[in-house]
Amino acid sequence: MQIELVDLKLQYQTLEDEVIAQITQVLKGMNLYLGENVFHLEEEFAQYCGVSHAIGVGSGTDALYLSLLAAGIGKGDEVITVSHTFAATAEVIALTGARPVFVDVDLETYTMDISQLEAAITTKTKAILPVHIYGHPAEMDAIMAVARKHNLFVLEDACQAHGAEYKGARAGGLGDAAAFSFYYAKNLGAYGEGGIVVTKDRQLASRIQMLRNHGAKEKYRHTLIGLNSRLDEMQAAILRVKLPHLDRWNARRRTWARHYTSQLSDLDDGIVTPVELPNTKHVYHLYVIRTAQRDELQRWLKAHGIATGIHYPVPVHLQEAYEYLGYKPGSLPVTEAICESILSLPMYPELTLDQISYIRQCIGDFVVGKRHRRKSQRDLFSPSIIKETNVRK
Ligand SMILES: *Cc1c(COP(=O)(O)O)cnc(C)c1O
Repeated sequence: MQIELVDLKLQYQTLEDEVIAQITQVLKGMNLYLGENVFHLEEEFAQYCGVSHAIGVGSGTDALYLSLLAAGIGKGDEVITVSHTFAATAEVIALTGARPVFVDVDLETYTMDISQLEAAITTKTKAILPVHIYGHPAEMDAIMAVARKHNLFVLEDACQAHGAEYKGARAGGLGDAAAFSFYYAKNLGAYGEGGIVVTKDRQLASRIQMLRNHGAKEKYRHTLIGLNSRLDEMQAAILRVKLPHLDRWNARRRTWARHYTSQLSDLDDGIVTPVELPNTKHVYHLYVIRTAQRDELQRWLKAHGIATGIHYPVPVHLQEAYEYLGYKPGSLPVTEAICESILSLPMYPELTLDQISYIRQCIGDFVVGKRHRRKSQRDLFSPSIIKETNVRK
C-alpha cells in the first residue's frame, strides 16, 4: 500500500466540475483582480470566523506581514512569538524591522507556553504572535489577558487552523487580527497562492486593504507605502467552491485523528499521540506523534510505502538567518527536544480506515520489532523530554 502525507488529487476529483465552471466564468469576464469573487469570499470567510472584516491577500506570509505593518510594528519594536513554527512567522516580524523574541512551547499542545510570556515582555514589546500550530489553538484567554494588561497587539497565526475553535469561538476571532494561508495543502487551500486577514477592527482592515494594493485607496492615489499582495479572482472563486466543505473536511480529519489515537494508544509505549485540550477543537492540519526513535520509524514507514513529514526539523531560533538574534542550542529546551522527536503521519480528509489500520499495523510492527531487539524499553521514551514537561493536571 502506498500512502501520501497529503493527497490532494482525490479531493479535486470531487470538485472538478464546479471548479472548472467557476474558473471559466472568471476567464470569460476577464476581471482578474479585486472583483466580486474576492469581495464575496471576504464576506463569507469573515462570517465563518465570526468577525466583521476580511481582506484577501497574496499569501499567509503576506497576511501576517501586512497585519503587523498595519498595526504600526517596525524598527525598534519587539514581537513575542514561538520558534516551533514555520519560519514565516518570525520572518515577517524581522521584515518589519522589529525583533522576534521567542518563548518556548508547551509540551502537550506545542503552542506558546503562557507561563513564560510575561517574563519576555520589555518596554519595546508591541505585539504577541501566537501560532495555532498543527490546528490546535494557542491558549488565547491567557494571551489576551497579558496583552490587555500591557497594551499589546495580538495577531493569531492561524495559517494551520481554519475552523479550529477555542471556547466556542473560531480561530480568527480570538485576537486583534488573524492571518490565514490558502497554500494548497492547508485545510482550506487554493490552487495557487493566497491568504486572508480577518479582524473586528475596521480601521486596521482599511489599512490592510490599502497596503495590499500599493497603499492606494483609489487608483493612483497612494496614502500609505504598501506593496502588491492581492488575492486573485481565480483563487477566490476556487476558495468559494471549497469553503462550504471545510467543516465536513475538518470533521473527517478529526475522525481519522481519533482512530489514529485510539489505535496507537494500544501500543502503550514509545508513541506520544497529540492532545486536544478541553474546550478546544483541533482541526488536525497535521497529525503529529512523538517518539525517541523518530528517524528509524520514518525510514521504516517509508520502506512500507507510507510517507511522513517533520514539521519542523530545525527550530527558527537555530536557523542561519536568525543567528543575529543570539539564541543558542539550549535556549528553548522544549522546542529543541520536540524537533528531534516529532513525526507527521498521513492526514487528509480522504484517507480511509483501511489506510489508518495499515499505518497502525506498520508502527506496531516497528515497536514490537524494537522490543525484541532491545533489552530495555526505557529509551523508547525520551527522558529529557519527559522531564521538561509541564503536564496539566
Ligand atoms: C503555511 C504557513 C504560513 C505561511 O503561509 P503561506 O501561504 O505559505 O505564505 C505561516 N505560518 C504558518 C504556521 C504556516 O503553516
